[in-house]
Amino acid sequence: MPHQLHHAQVDQVRNLTHDVREIGLRLTDPAEIHFKAGQFVSFDVPHPKFPRPATRAYSIASPPSQKGRITLLLNLIPDGPGSTYLFGLKEGDETQFKGPAGSFYLKEDGQRDLLFVATGTGIAPFRSMLDHLLESGFARSVTLYWGLRSQKDLYYQKEFEALAKQRPNFRFITTLSRPEPGWTGTTGRVTTLVADRVSSVTNLSVYLCGNSGMIGEIYGLISQKGLCPIRKEKWYDDVGEADD
Ligand SMILES: Cc1cc2nc3c(=O)[nH]c(=O)nc-3n(C[C@H](O)[C@H](O)[C@H](O)COP(=O)(O)OP(=O)(O)OC[C@H]3O[C@@H](n4cnc5c(N)ncnc54)[C@H](O)[C@@H]3O)c2cc1C
Repeated sequence: MPHQLHHAQVDQVRNLTHDVREIGLRLTDPAEIHFKAGQFVSFDVPHPKFPRPATRAYSIASPPSQKGRITLLLNLIPDGPGSTYLFGLKEGDETQFKGPAGSFYLKEDGQRDLLFVATGTGIAPFRSMLDHLLESGFARSVTLYWGLRSQKDLYYQKEFEALAKQRPNFRFITTLSRPEPGWTGTTGRVTTLVADRVSSVTNLSVYLCGNSGMIGEIYGLISQKGLCPIRKEKWYDDVGEADD
């Protein structure tokens, strides 16, 4: 049911980097949530400037098979109403949210290979999709390109490495736009990665999640290479990008 109210209790808070946090929410009433991998939930949070609460959306970062508990991935935005509320939650706190909502989920595209492109915490819906694909024994090729700034922004690397070892049809590249000395991995913006590495789109379905700049550029790049389904989840209009 769309936009259903869910009550939950925070059962885990995990700092992944200096400004990214993962929280676990155990559903209390109703005890389960039914959603598609890639969908989001929304919180009504106090707004410091307005009498009415502000609504903020957060993609579910855990798979739909986990019905009694969801994981959210949060980026710290100083003084942001949503960020202030969610970063203020501690283990044991009660909260409520609405959802699931959104049409950014895996579509039936026949046997097309999948390309996921994320910047920053835009990885959240893809983590849900990847877990879901893994559980359903996916046979298609899945490629994830993930843009972050520097080494201090890295997380989930071991998790994706383990998945890539387990599933030869999954590969991922994390690219750092402003690496500190010592980085031996891929360097540059995720847009460049797509421009350089995607040669044919004939058998491809593309999913993009993150800031508007990246989404617009990659949409343009892919469209120039040919016709294929491109699904987009724009989280915000960028001032400075997560991987710039
Ligand atoms: C469908 C959807 C799903 C989303 N899922 C997530 C999620 O899983 N995790 C998450 O952290 N955010 C997510 N967002 C963004 C989230 O809804 C809020 O916009 C964000 O938390 C900032 O809200 P705020 O009230 O703290 O700050 P605001 O004052 O509303 O935002 C300040 C500025 O922060 C920037 N910003 C917003 N989100 C981010 C971000 N994630 N990373 C870097 N800069 C950002 C934008 O420039 C924005 O204008 C999602 C947005 C949408 C539309």
